[in-house]
Amino acid sequence: MTVSNDAGDAKGELHSQQNIAPRIFAAKEPEAKICVSATRAILPRWPKHVVESPAAPRTSAPRPCHVALSRQSLMLIDTHCHLDFPDFAPELAETIARAKARGVGRMITISTHLPRFERVKAVAEAYPEVFCTVGTHPHHSHEEAEPTVEALVSLSRHPKCVGLGEAGLDYHYDHAPREVAQRIFRIHVRAARETGLPLVIHTRDADDDCAAILKDEMGKGAFPALLHCFTSGRALAETALQLGLYISFSGVVTFKNAEYLREIARDVPLERMLVETDAPFLAPAPHRGKRNEPAFVVDTARVLAEIKGISAAELAIATTENALRLFSKMPSLDAAA
Ligand SMILES: [Zn+2]
Repeated sequence: MTVSNDAGDAKGELHSQQNIAPRIFAAKEPEAKICVSATRAILPRWPKHVVESPAAPRTSAPRPCHVALSRQSLMLIDTHCHLDFPDFAPELAETIARAKARGVGRMITISTHLPRFERVKAVAEAYPEVFCTVGTHPHHSHEEAEPTVEALVSLSRHPKCVGLGEAGLDYHYDHAPREVAQRIFRIHVRAARETGLPLVIHTRDADDDCAAILKDEMGKGAFPALLHCFTSGRALAETALQLGLYISFSGVVTFKNAEYLREIARDVPLERMLVETDAPFLAPAPHRGKRNEPAFVVDTARVLAEIKGISAAELAIATTENALRLFSKMPSLDAAA
């Protein structure tokens, strides 16, 4: 069983931990119409980010119920792509236009190197639909000066910066010494806790250490976060959900040999699910082998809707509402368009 992973990684082994812990989320999901105010009542609501920034967070006025919302959030949000990568340089405007034409209303371009944040930021500044994060990918955490919490907090004040990361652990490639990667992961957690901005977590073949750090850090004080391009085991998914995290699925969930991942996706509560591309990597079926791009998030969303037994529209409404709730600094869809 093989599957590729992100940030320029070669093919890797999907670990198939089937340790069925008690299925905390066995309860049947309310497949019926999603009423946002109802879901909002049961979900952790992160405090508006504390960092004063011109793009002031939305007022706390309750959003319209699903009727108005569904029209707005039939758009999808690609919560993880790398638009600053050279793969897109020749046709970035066309790539973003294609995504919009397919109903992708927002794209979050993810930082991987702190010294390259200027480039990431420039893409977000150039396109109203694009937002960004700031942080150091675990592959590179040993290659550059260690970020400080203060530096991450300060850089995240940029109005288009809506999150921290990607940061975390990757024991599949083990590019960085594990203790270095763990230390830098925790630095990003502290910045997320301080700012109230969500941390985009990259974790691969590091389920136990990732779970241990999440539990330990959540014990020190809550912080918003998500596990991106989820390919880990069921136990880590359950721990993350218990701690209030969101789980994002990439094109991997469409791969023939990813049945175990589809089983996990089936059990992730709809109100904690996000979709992403991790473009230019991991193009979903039917685009496998091609350069991935935000427009292809539609194909991953369609498969997730089938897995959840709901319509593509309901999946779009739910995942977009989730993304706007988690990335609460990002203006609602009709605000900036
Ligand atoms: Zn990643």
